[in-house]
Amino acid sequence: MCPPPVYLDHAATTPVRPEVLEAMAPFLGPRFGNPSSLHRWGREARAALDEARERVAGTLGANSDEVCFTSCGTEGDNLAVLGAWRARRTAGRNAVVSTPIEHKAVLGAVHEAGREGAEERLLEVDANGIVTAESFDALVRDDAAVCSVMWVNNEIGVVQPVPELAAKAAERGVTFHTDAVQAFGKVPVDASSQRFDSLTISGHKIGAPKGIGALYIRRGTVIEPLMHGGSQDRGRRPGTENVAFAVGLACAAELAVAERETECRRLAALRDRLEAELMARIPDAVVHGRGAPRAPHILNISVPGTDSESLLLALDLAGVAASAGSACQSGSVTPSHVLAALGVRYDLSTAAVRMSLGSLTTEECVDRVSQLFPALIQKARRLAGATA
Ligand code: PLP
Repeated sequence: MCPPPVYLDHAATTPVRPEVLEAMAPFLGPRFGNPSSLHRWGREARAALDEARERVAGTLGANSDEVCFTSCGTEGDNLAVLGAWRARRTAGRNAVVSTPIEHKAVLGAVHEAGREGAEERLLEVDANGIVTAESFDALVRDDAAVCSVMWVNNEIGVVQPVPELAAKAAERGVTFHTDAVQAFGKVPVDASSQRFDSLTISGHKIGAPKGIGALYIRRGTVIEPLMHGGSQDRGRRPGTENVAFAVGLACAAELAVAERETECRRLAALRDRLEAELMARIPDAVVHGRGAPRAPHILNISVPGTDSESLLLALDLAGVAASAGSACQSGSVTPSHVLAALGVRYDLSTAAVRMSLGSLTTEECVDRVSQLFPALIQKARRLAGATA
Protein backbone atom coordinates (compact mmCIF):
# COMPACT_ATOMS: atom_id res chain seq x y z
CA MET A 1 0.00 0.00 0.00
CA CYS A 2 1.25 3.50 -0.84
CA PRO A 3 2.08 5.68 2.19
CA PRO A 4 -0.10 8.81 2.42
CA PRO A 5 1.23 11.88 0.60
CA VAL A 6 3.18 14.45 2.60
CA TYR A 7 2.18 18.11 2.31
CA LEU A 8 5.13 20.38 3.05
CA ASP A 9 3.78 23.54 1.40
CA HIS A 10 1.92 25.33 4.21
CA ALA A 11 3.57 28.64 3.30
CA ALA A 12 1.75 28.42 -0.05
CA THR A 13 -1.61 27.69 1.54
CA THR A 14 -3.19 25.77 4.41
CA PRO A 15 -6.26 23.56 4.64
CA VAL A 16 -9.40 25.29 5.91
CA ARG A 17 -9.92 24.37 9.55
CA PRO A 18 -13.15 22.51 10.36
CA GLU A 19 -14.01 25.09 13.06
CA VAL A 20 -13.70 27.80 10.42
CA LEU A 21 -15.93 25.96 7.93
CA GLU A 22 -18.54 25.45 10.61
CA ALA A 23 -18.47 29.12 11.65
CA MET A 24 -18.85 30.26 8.04
CA ALA A 25 -21.57 27.84 6.95
CA PRO A 26 -24.66 29.80 8.14
CA PHE A 27 -23.49 32.88 6.19
CA LEU A 28 -23.17 30.87 3.00
CA GLY A 29 -26.67 29.55 3.65
CA PRO A 30 -29.67 31.05 5.39
CA ARG A 31 -27.92 34.11 6.87
CA PHE A 32 -27.13 35.57 3.45
CA GLY A 33 -28.05 39.22 4.03
CA ASN A 34 -26.15 42.26 2.77
CA PRO A 35 -24.69 44.11 5.77
CA SER A 36 -25.70 47.46 4.21
CA SER A 37 -29.41 46.53 4.10
CA LEU A 38 -31.61 47.96 6.81
CA HIS A 39 -34.00 45.01 7.18
CA ARG A 40 -33.53 42.04 9.49
CA TRP A 41 -31.38 40.02 7.06
CA GLY A 42 -29.10 42.99 6.66
CA ARG A 43 -28.95 43.70 10.37
CA GLU A 44 -28.04 40.10 11.07
CA ALA A 45 -25.20 40.23 8.52
CA ARG A 46 -24.04 43.59 9.90
CA ALA A 47 -23.91 42.20 13.43
CA ALA A 48 -21.84 39.21 12.26
CA LEU A 49 -19.47 41.44 10.31
CA ASP A 50 -19.04 43.84 13.24
CA GLU A 51 -18.34 40.95 15.55
CA ALA A 52 -15.81 39.45 13.11
CA ARG A 53 -14.05 42.82 12.86
CA GLU A 54 -13.96 43.12 16.65
CA ARG A 55 -12.52 39.62 16.98
CA VAL A 56 -9.82 40.14 14.33
CA ALA A 57 -8.94 43.43 16.04
CA GLY A 58 -8.63 41.55 19.33
CA THR A 59 -6.02 39.23 17.82
CA LEU A 60 -3.96 42.22 16.69
CA GLY A 61 -4.19 44.33 19.85
CA ALA A 62 -6.17 46.84 17.77
CA ASN A 63 -9.47 48.74 17.83
CA SER A 64 -12.15 47.38 15.56
CA ASP A 65 -12.25 50.54 13.39
CA GLU A 66 -8.57 49.89 12.59
CA VAL A 67 -9.35 46.62 10.79
CA CYS A 68 -10.15 46.73 7.08
CA PHE A 69 -11.19 43.44 5.46
CA THR A 70 -9.56 42.74 2.09
CA SER A 71 -9.76 40.01 -0.52
CA CYS A 72 -6.22 38.71 0.15
CA GLY A 73 -2.75 39.56 1.35
CA THR A 74 -1.85 41.04 -2.02
CA GLU A 75 -4.67 43.57 -1.76
CA GLY A 76 -3.67 44.49 1.81
CA ASP A 77 -0.05 45.08 0.74
CA ASN A 78 -1.11 47.20 -2.23
CA LEU A 79 -3.57 49.26 -0.18
CA ALA A 80 -0.99 49.86 2.54
CA VAL A 81 1.93 50.82 0.30
CA LEU A 82 0.28 52.53 -2.66
CA GLY A 83 -2.57 53.97 -0.59
CA ALA A 84 -0.19 55.55 1.92
CA TRP A 85 2.15 56.84 -0.79
CA ARG A 86 -0.71 58.44 -2.72
CA ALA A 87 -2.12 60.02 0.43
CA ARG A 88 1.19 61.33 1.73
CA ARG A 89 3.33 62.24 -1.27
CA THR A 90 4.71 65.78 -1.24
CA ALA A 91 7.77 67.26 -2.87
CA GLY A 92 9.65 66.90 0.41
CA ARG A 93 8.41 63.36 1.15
CA ASN A 94 8.75 61.53 -2.08
CA ALA A 95 10.48 58.23 -1.29
CA VAL A 96 9.01 54.75 -0.85
CA VAL A 97 11.36 52.41 0.96
CA SER A 98 11.24 48.62 1.09
CA THR A 99 13.50 45.57 0.95
CA PRO A 100 14.65 43.49 -2.01
CA ILE A 101 13.27 40.31 -0.37
CA GLU A 102 9.60 41.33 -0.15
CA HIS A 103 6.81 39.31 -1.70
CA LYS A 104 5.91 40.51 -5.19
CA ALA A 105 2.73 42.01 -3.72
CA VAL A 106 4.82 44.67 -1.97
CA LEU A 107 7.50 45.00 -4.65
CA GLY A 108 4.82 45.44 -7.32
CA ALA A 109 3.16 48.20 -5.29
CA VAL A 110 6.53 49.91 -4.73
CA HIS A 111 7.24 49.82 -8.49
CA GLU A 112 3.79 51.23 -9.22
CA ALA A 113 4.51 54.11 -6.82
CA GLY A 114 7.79 54.54 -8.73
CA ARG A 115 5.87 54.83 -12.00
CA GLU A 116 3.75 57.50 -10.33
CA GLY A 117 6.82 59.52 -9.41
CA ALA A 118 8.07 58.05 -6.13
CA GLU A 119 11.75 57.59 -5.52
CA GLU A 120 12.14 53.84 -4.94
CA ARG A 121 14.66 52.87 -2.30
CA LEU A 122 15.55 49.28 -1.40
CA LEU A 123 17.24 48.54 1.90
CA GLU A 124 20.34 46.37 2.05
CA VAL A 125 20.06 42.91 3.60
CA ASP A 126 22.92 40.83 4.99
CA ALA A 127 23.79 37.27 3.93
CA ASN A 128 20.96 35.93 6.09
CA GLY A 129 18.42 38.36 4.69
CA ILE A 130 18.22 40.70 7.68
CA VAL A 131 17.90 44.43 6.94
CA THR A 132 21.08 46.19 8.04
CA ALA A 133 20.75 48.98 10.61
CA GLU A 134 23.09 51.21 8.58
CA SER A 135 21.00 51.02 5.45
CA PHE A 136 17.77 51.55 7.42
CA ASP A 137 19.23 54.70 8.98
CA ALA A 138 20.53 55.89 5.63
CA LEU A 139 17.33 55.32 3.62
CA VAL A 140 14.45 55.78 6.08
CA ARG A 141 14.78 59.53 6.56
CA ASP A 142 12.32 62.36 6.93
CA ASP A 143 12.05 62.62 3.13
CA ALA A 144 10.38 59.19 2.92
CA ALA A 145 6.61 58.79 2.80
CA VAL A 146 6.29 55.05 3.40
CA CYS A 147 8.52 52.17 4.43
CA SER A 148 7.42 48.53 4.10
CA VAL A 149 9.42 45.69 5.66
CA MET A 150 8.03 42.15 5.78
CA TRP A 151 7.98 40.51 9.19
CA VAL A 152 8.68 36.91 8.12
CA ASN A 153 10.07 36.11 4.69
CA ASN A 154 7.95 33.62 2.76
CA GLU A 155 10.88 31.83 1.09
CA ILE A 156 13.45 31.47 3.85
CA GLY A 157 11.48 32.29 7.01
CA VAL A 158 13.84 34.90 8.46
CA VAL A 159 12.27 37.28 10.97
CA GLN A 160 13.02 41.01 10.72
CA PRO A 161 13.20 43.13 13.88
CA VAL A 162 9.94 44.82 12.92
CA PRO A 163 9.05 46.42 16.28
CA GLU A 164 12.46 48.16 16.41
CA LEU A 165 12.32 49.27 12.77
CA ALA A 166 8.75 50.54 13.20
CA ALA A 167 9.78 52.60 16.24
CA LYS A 168 12.64 54.19 14.30
CA ALA A 169 10.38 54.98 11.33
CA ALA A 170 7.86 56.61 13.68
CA GLU A 171 10.58 58.95 15.01
CA ARG A 172 11.22 60.07 11.42
CA GLY A 173 7.53 60.55 10.59
CA VAL A 174 7.59 57.74 7.99
CA THR A 175 4.46 55.58 7.65
CA PHE A 176 5.58 52.03 8.44
CA HIS A 177 3.86 49.00 6.96
CA THR A 178 4.68 45.37 7.58
CA ASP A 179 3.59 42.36 5.54
CA ALA A 180 2.76 39.87 8.30
CA VAL A 181 1.20 37.28 5.99
CA GLN A 182 3.74 34.62 7.07
CA ALA A 183 4.27 36.10 10.53
CA PHE A 184 0.77 36.15 11.96
CA GLY A 185 0.35 33.17 14.28
CA LYS A 186 4.12 32.73 14.39
CA VAL A 187 5.39 35.92 16.09
CA PRO A 188 3.64 38.02 18.75
CA VAL A 189 1.75 40.85 17.02
CA ASP A 190 0.40 43.66 19.18
CA ALA A 191 -0.56 47.01 17.70
CA SER A 192 -1.05 48.47 21.19
CA SER A 193 2.64 48.13 22.09
CA GLN A 194 4.36 47.96 18.67
CA ARG A 195 4.60 51.05 16.46
CA PHE A 196 3.77 49.82 12.94
CA ASP A 197 1.12 51.94 11.19
CA SER A 198 -0.31 49.18 9.03
CA LEU A 199 -0.03 45.40 8.88
CA THR A 200 -1.27 42.83 6.37
CA ILE A 201 -2.62 39.36 7.12
CA SER A 202 -4.07 36.73 4.80
CA GLY A 203 -6.67 34.12 5.74
CA HIS A 204 -5.51 31.18 3.66
CA LYS A 205 -2.15 31.01 5.43
CA ILE A 206 -3.84 30.39 8.79
CA GLY A 207 -6.66 27.96 8.10
CA ALA A 208 -9.27 30.32 6.63
CA PRO A 209 -10.25 30.15 2.93
CA LYS A 210 -8.48 31.85 0.05
CA GLY A 211 -10.09 35.18 -0.77
CA ILE A 212 -10.05 36.95 2.59
CA GLY A 213 -7.46 39.02 4.41
CA ALA A 214 -7.25 42.08 6.58
CA LEU A 215 -5.23 45.24 6.72
CA TYR A 216 -4.68 46.81 10.12
CA ILE A 217 -4.59 50.61 9.73
CA ARG A 218 -3.64 52.58 12.85
CA ARG A 219 -6.00 55.46 13.71
CA GLY A 220 -4.62 58.63 12.16
CA THR A 221 -2.74 56.84 9.34
CA VAL A 222 -3.79 58.31 6.00
CA ILE A 223 -4.43 55.87 3.16
CA GLU A 224 -6.14 56.55 -0.16
CA PRO A 225 -8.53 53.79 -1.22
CA LEU A 226 -7.50 51.81 -4.30
CA MET A 227 -11.10 51.32 -5.39
CA HIS A 228 -13.95 53.78 -5.60
CA GLY A 229 -17.60 53.11 -4.94
CA GLY A 230 -19.72 52.72 -1.83
CA SER A 231 -18.90 53.73 1.70
CA GLN A 232 -18.24 50.23 3.04
CA ASP A 233 -15.34 49.87 5.47
CA ARG A 234 -15.29 53.65 6.04
CA GLY A 235 -14.67 54.19 2.33
CA ARG A 236 -11.27 52.52 2.60
CA ARG A 237 -12.48 49.44 0.74
CA PRO A 238 -15.75 49.84 -1.12
CA GLY A 239 -17.68 46.75 -2.21
CA THR A 240 -20.21 44.50 -0.47
CA GLU A 241 -18.40 42.78 2.37
CA ASN A 242 -17.70 39.04 2.32
CA VAL A 243 -19.44 38.31 5.61
CA ALA A 244 -18.94 34.54 5.62
CA PHE A 245 -15.22 34.77 4.95
CA ALA A 246 -14.77 37.60 7.46
CA VAL A 247 -16.38 35.35 10.07
CA GLY A 248 -14.03 32.55 8.97
CA LEU A 249 -11.01 34.83 9.24
CA ALA A 250 -12.00 35.87 12.76
CA CYS A 251 -12.30 32.25 13.82
CA ALA A 252 -8.97 31.25 12.23
CA ALA A 253 -7.14 34.29 13.62
CA GLU A 254 -8.32 33.61 17.17
CA LEU A 255 -7.28 29.97 16.92
CA ALA A 256 -3.88 30.93 15.47
CA VAL A 257 -3.20 33.33 18.32
CA ALA A 258 -4.47 30.99 21.04
CA GLU A 259 -2.32 28.13 19.71
CA ARG A 260 0.68 30.21 18.69
CA GLU A 261 3.11 29.28 21.42
CA THR A 262 2.42 25.53 21.51
CA GLU A 263 2.20 25.24 17.73
CA CYS A 264 5.43 27.20 17.24
CA ARG A 265 7.23 24.94 19.71
CA ARG A 266 5.90 21.87 17.90
CA LEU A 267 6.84 23.17 14.44
CA ALA A 268 10.28 24.37 15.53
CA ALA A 269 11.06 20.90 16.90
CA LEU A 270 9.88 19.28 13.65
CA ARG A 271 11.75 21.78 11.48
CA ASP A 272 14.95 21.29 13.51
CA ARG A 273 14.58 17.52 13.25
CA LEU A 274 14.05 17.70 9.48
CA GLU A 275 16.96 20.08 9.03
CA ALA A 276 19.32 17.99 11.18
CA GLU A 277 18.35 14.76 9.41
CA LEU A 278 18.75 16.25 5.93
CA MET A 279 22.10 17.81 6.81
CA ALA A 280 23.32 14.52 8.31
CA ARG A 281 22.43 12.70 5.09
CA ILE A 282 23.57 15.39 2.64
CA PRO A 283 26.36 17.31 4.42
CA ASP A 284 27.06 19.62 1.47
CA ALA A 285 23.48 20.96 1.50
CA VAL A 286 23.04 24.64 2.38
CA VAL A 287 20.20 25.99 4.53
CA HIS A 288 19.36 29.58 3.68
CA GLY A 289 18.87 32.14 6.46
CA ARG A 290 20.25 29.70 9.01
CA GLY A 291 22.27 32.37 10.82
CA ALA A 292 19.25 34.57 11.59
CA PRO A 293 16.14 34.18 13.72
CA ARG A 294 13.68 32.12 11.66
CA ALA A 295 9.98 31.42 11.91
CA PRO A 296 9.47 27.75 12.79
CA HIS A 297 7.54 26.71 9.69
CA ILE A 298 9.95 27.36 6.81
CA LEU A 299 13.06 25.44 5.76
CA ASN A 300 14.81 26.45 2.55
CA ILE A 301 17.59 24.15 1.42
CA SER A 302 19.82 23.83 -1.65
CA VAL A 303 21.71 20.71 -2.64
CA PRO A 304 24.68 21.29 -4.98
CA GLY A 305 24.41 19.48 -8.29
CA THR A 306 20.61 19.50 -8.36
CA ASP A 307 18.09 22.05 -9.55
CA SER A 308 14.81 22.96 -7.91
CA GLU A 309 12.65 21.64 -10.73
CA SER A 310 14.30 18.20 -10.80
CA LEU A 311 14.17 17.83 -7.04
CA LEU A 312 10.56 18.98 -6.82
CA LEU A 313 9.66 16.50 -9.55
CA ALA A 314 11.43 13.68 -7.70
CA LEU A 315 9.71 14.71 -4.44
CA ASP A 316 6.32 14.87 -6.13
CA LEU A 317 6.76 11.42 -7.65
CA ALA A 318 7.52 10.16 -4.13
CA GLY A 319 4.34 11.80 -2.82
CA VAL A 320 5.95 14.83 -1.19
CA ALA A 321 4.67 18.34 -1.97
CA ALA A 322 7.16 21.17 -1.53
CA SER A 323 7.92 24.27 -3.56
CA ALA A 324 10.82 26.08 -5.13
CA GLY A 325 12.34 29.18 -3.73
CA SER A 326 12.38 30.23 -7.35
CA ALA A 327 9.91 30.54 -10.17
CA CYS A 328 10.14 27.43 -12.35
CA GLN A 329 9.19 27.53 -15.95
CA SER A 330 9.46 24.41 -18.02
CA GLY A 331 13.09 23.79 -18.81
CA SER A 332 14.44 26.85 -17.04
CA VAL A 333 14.62 28.02 -13.47
CA THR A 334 14.62 31.73 -12.67
CA PRO A 335 16.64 32.27 -9.52
CA SER A 336 14.68 33.63 -6.61
CA HIS A 337 14.97 37.40 -6.11
CA VAL A 338 15.22 36.70 -2.38
CA LEU A 339 18.23 34.40 -2.64
CA ALA A 340 19.82 36.74 -5.19
CA ALA A 341 19.52 39.60 -2.67
CA LEU A 342 21.29 37.45 -0.06
CA GLY A 343 24.17 36.95 -2.50
CA VAL A 344 23.57 33.19 -2.77
CA ARG A 345 25.65 31.51 -5.50
CA TYR A 346 23.70 31.08 -8.75
CA ASP A 347 23.92 27.27 -8.82
CA LEU A 348 22.64 27.10 -5.24
CA SER A 349 19.87 29.61 -5.77
CA THR A 350 18.52 27.61 -8.71
CA ALA A 351 18.60 24.47 -6.55
CA ALA A 352 16.57 25.85 -3.64
CA VAL A 353 13.61 23.92 -2.30
CA ARG A 354 11.26 25.31 0.34
CA MET A 355 9.61 22.90 2.73
CA SER A 356 6.98 24.55 4.88
CA LEU A 357 5.42 22.89 7.88
CA GLY A 358 2.02 23.34 9.48
CA SER A 359 -1.05 21.66 10.85
CA LEU A 360 -0.63 18.57 8.62
CA THR A 361 3.01 17.98 9.56
CA THR A 362 3.88 15.15 11.95
CA GLU A 363 7.07 13.38 13.00
CA GLU A 364 6.20 10.60 10.55
CA CYS A 365 6.09 13.10 7.66
CA VAL A 366 9.46 14.53 8.61
CA ASP A 367 11.07 11.12 9.03
CA ARG A 368 9.69 9.87 5.75
CA VAL A 369 11.09 12.83 3.84
CA SER A 370 14.48 12.46 5.58
CA GLN A 371 14.66 8.78 4.69
CA LEU A 372 13.64 9.38 1.08
CA PHE A 373 15.95 12.33 0.59
CA PRO A 374 19.30 10.71 -0.37
CA ALA A 375 17.67 8.58 -3.10
CA LEU A 376 15.71 11.60 -4.36
CA ILE A 377 18.86 13.68 -4.47
CA GLN A 378 20.56 11.01 -6.58
CA LYS A 379 17.60 10.98 -8.91
CA ALA A 380 17.49 14.78 -9.08
CA ARG A 381 21.23 14.90 -9.79
CA ARG A 382 20.74 12.49 -12.66
CA LEU A 383 17.79 14.52 -13.99
CA ALA A 384 19.73 17.78 -13.60
CA GLY A 385 22.73 16.19 -15.37
CA ALA A 386 20.51 15.01 -18.20
CA THR A 387 19.05 18.48 -18.81
CA ALA A 388 22.33 20.41 -18.28
N1 PLP B 1 2.99 38.32 1.38
C1 PLP B 1 3.59 37.18 1.69
C2 PLP B 1 4.79 37.21 2.57
C3 PLP B 1 3.11 35.96 1.20
O1 PLP B 1 3.73 34.81 1.52
C4 PLP B 1 1.97 35.98 0.36
C5 PLP B 1 1.46 34.73 -0.25
O2 PLP B 1 2.19 33.79 -0.47
C6 PLP B 1 1.37 37.21 0.07
C7 PLP B 1 1.90 38.36 0.59
C8 PLP B 1 0.14 37.29 -0.79
O3 PLP B 1 -0.97 36.81 -0.08
P1 PLP B 1 -2.29 36.34 -0.88
O4 PLP B 1 -1.96 35.01 -1.47
O5 PLP B 1 -3.33 36.24 0.17
O6 PLP B 1 -2.57 37.38 -1.88
